[in-house]
Amino acid sequence: MSTFKAPKGTYDLLPPDSATYLAVREAIAAPLRNSGYGYVETPGFENVELFSRGVGESTDIVTKEMYAFTTRGGDQLALRPEGTASVLRAALEANLHKAGNLPVKLWYSGSYYRYERPQKGRYRHFSQVGAEAIGAEDPALDAELIILADQAYRSLGLREFRILLNSLGDKECRPVYRAALQDFLRGLDLDEETRRRIDINPLRVLDDKRDDVQKQLVGAPMLRDYLCDACKAYHEQVRELITAEGVAYEDDPKLVRGLDYYTRTTFEFVHDGLGAQSAVGGGGRYDGLSEMIGGPALPSVGWALGVDRTVLALEAEGVTLDLPSATSVFAVPLGDEARRVLFAKVTELRKAGIAADFSYGGKGLKGAMKNANRSGARFTVVAGERDLAEGVVQLKDMESGEQEAVAVEAIVGELKARLG
Ligand code: AMP
Repeated sequence: MSTFKAPKGTYDLLPPDSATYLAVREAIAAPLRNSGYGYVETPGFENVELFSRGVGESTDIVTKEMYAFTTRGGDQLALRPEGTASVLRAALEANLHKAGNLPVKLWYSGSYYRYERPQKGRYRHFSQVGAEAIGAEDPALDAELIILADQAYRSLGLREFRILLNSLGDKECRPVYRAALQDFLRGLDLDEETRRRIDINPLRVLDDKRDDVQKQLVGAPMLRDYLCDACKAYHEQVRELITAEGVAYEDDPKLVRGLDYYTRTTFEFVHDGLGAQSAVGGGGRYDGLSEMIGGPALPSVGWALGVDRTVLALEAEGVTLDLPSATSVFAVPLGDEARRVLFAKVTELRKAGIAADFSYGGKGLKGAMKNANRSGARFTVVAGERDLAEGVVQLKDMESGEQEAVAVEAIVGELKARLG
C-alpha cells in the first residue's frame, strides 16, 4: 500500500467491477444514441457563476456542496456539480440552437463533484449519463426522455424501480402557488434555516425529510391545484403518451427536486432496494434556464441518471450483467522460439479483432496456465520447443479441457472459426 488513499467520499473503479460500470454507461447511452441524441463533452469545471445562476443561489448544491476555487489567474471556477447548465452553455456558445434544427438533442457521460456527506450511494465524485433536448416545447419530448430512461433501466434487467412524476407549473401559475405556500409555511413552527428557505425557495420545504416537518405539512397547498390550464393540458399529454407506451409512473405532487431551474414536467427514478439514497436518476423541463444564463428563450427538457447508484441497484436486485470475457485467447510460450512465434500470432489475432493476451515475464507452464485461467479466455495456445520442431502448437479448449495439436500456420484461422 502507498502512503496515499483515495480522497474521502471517492472510490476507484478497478477490474473486474469496472466492466460493470462501463456496461451500465453504455446501456444508458444506447437508447439515446438510437433516438437522435448526439454526444457532447464539456469541461470538468466552469465559471462558478454558471452554476450559481443556473442551478440556483438557494440550492444546497450551490450553497453547500460546490467545489469552488479561485485559479492562480484569478478566475472563479467550480468543479461541475451537474451537467445541464454546462451542456446548455456549450450549445448556446456554439449557436447550435440557431442551426434551424430544434430541438438540439445531446447526451453526455462524465464525472460530477459535490461536497456531500459521504455514505453508501452518496459520493463526492460520482458519475452520470445525461440527456438534454434543447429548444422545443412538446410533451412528446418529455415523454420520449422518460421512455428512454425506462428502456435503459429495463435493458439492464432492473425491475424494482419506480418513476415519480409531477408538474411544477410555469411562470404564470407557479408564482401564485408560491405565494400561497409561503403564507401557509409562515404559520408553521419551523427552525430558522427552514424559515429562511420559505423566502428563498419555499417549494424545497416540501422536500424536507424530517418527520416533524412532514407532519406539519399535511394540508399544505398543492401545486396541482394551482396549475394553469396550459400546464394542466401539457402535463396530461405527457401522462397519456407515456401510459400509451406501457410505462408505469406514480403521481408525486410533492416532487420538487433539488435544482431551481425546473418548470412543468419533473420526474425522478427511485429504486426500492437502495435505502436512503434511493434516487437513481432524475430530470425535467427547464424552460427558463437559458434565459437565466443569458441566452434566448429555449424551452428544454432533460435527465441525468447516476451510474454509481444504478450499479448499486443492480447489486440490490441480484442482477449480474452478462458481460463477454475480456480475453478470448491466451498464449503461453515455453522458451524463446515459442515467445517469438506466439507473440506474432497474438498480434495477428488482435488485428483480426480477436481479444488475445500473452503470458509475459517468462513464466513456467504452471504459473502461465493460472494466468490463462484468470483471464477468462476460452482458448489457450501453448507452444514449447518440441511442438515447434513438429510445426504445431497445442490448442486447449478451456471449457471442455480438450487439447489438440494444430499446425502453426493454421492456428489463427482455426481460432477465428471456433470463435465464430
Ligand atoms: P441530481 O442532479 O441531484 O438530480 O442527480 C441525478 C442523479 O445523479 C441522482 O439520481 C443520483 O443517481 C446521482 N447522484 C447525484 N448526487 C450523487 C452523489 N453525491 N453520489 C452518487 N450519485 C449521485
